[in-house]
Amino acid sequence: MNKLVVIALGGNAIKQAHECGTSDEQFVNVETTCHELIKMNRLGYKIVITHGNGPQAGNLLIQQEESKKLLPPQPLNIVGAMTQGQIGFMFQNTLRNFFHLAGKEVPVVTVVTQVLVDENDPDFADPSKPIGPFYTEQEARVLREQKNYLIKKVKPNGTKIWRRVVPSPEPQMIVEAGSIKSLLEARNIVIAAGGGGVPVRLISDGTYQSLEAVIDKDKAGNILAQAVNADIFLILTDVEKASLNWGLENEKPLDKITVEQAEKYLAEGHFLKGSMGPKMTAAIRFVKAGGEKAVITSLSRATDALAGNTGTIITRD
Ligand code: ADP
Ligand code: MG
Repeated sequence: MNKLVVIALGGNAIKQAHECGTSDEQFVNVETTCHELIKMNRLGYKIVITHGNGPQAGNLLIQQEESKKLLPPQPLNIVGAMTQGQIGFMFQNTLRNFFHLAGKEVPVVTVVTQVLVDENDPDFADPSKPIGPFYTEQEARVLREQKNYLIKKVKPNGTKIWRRVVPSPEPQMIVEAGSIKSLLEARNIVIAAGGGGVPVRLISDGTYQSLEAVIDKDKAGNILAQAVNADIFLILTDVEKASLNWGLENEKPLDKITVEQAEKYLAEGHFLKGSMGPKMTAAIRFVKAGGEKAVITSLSRATDALAGNTGTIITRD
């Protein structure tokens, strides 16, 4: 039987750190990524794609601010939806074209996704996620007064060291899960929950209200993987393996580990909070919920890692 893989693409799958983010640059990166995705498809894997949106949302937020004399700036929930469409489109176009050139017609579709969060999540009381541009102290003061933004100092010194901070609540449920499953049954390649999805809360009349918050894309990827009953959750980033003692002389890249080992290493602080930490947390949750395995590796090693030859592979035992 063909295994279903949910693939969480990291920042470098769409924009390299040194690039400014032109559409040409992003299409080149997306093409490289799609070559890897096509390899997985040829090997018989069914795929669902999710992705980060940090650099794209950051750029869009700057555009909102810089053009506010001409046009009304759009809030974070709208910017999140815009980046899902933007990045999803690049994958839809490129993947469909690659399949077509290979003589196969494979439908590829993006679902702009809402993700339910708990309004009592502790991160609403003490927001943790810096987003968008850096500000001077004066700019920070104006934005606090005019927009009621929470703005925190994110670097110890310099002039532009202030940044807006928003809540990053835990994802609980994919609102569009049913539609995504129908699309998969109809043999579509689906792109969903990009940038972690747009966070929404459930209000008493049963409607959803979107929020000025962001969800970690790897954690949302796990919820998506559980919702579609994925066999494998594949997290692709810019390192081949997660390590113990990362960056130190005694660094030890991890190969195959159990959930118990992963939990122990996470508790010992081996995986940094804003980067590898949420990936490992998402991997652990996936396997604990019944997933066959979670794999953390780099984009270029994806198929090798699926074959069990590299990457950090997390299994129940
Ligand atoms: P992405 O944008 O691909 O989602 P991140 O930059 O958030 O990825 O996370 C990947 C990064 O995590 C690596 O490039 C590395 O700098 C960092 N990292 C933190 N802790 C570890 C660790 N224990 N092992 C490997 N990488 C780690
Ligand atoms: Mg990154």
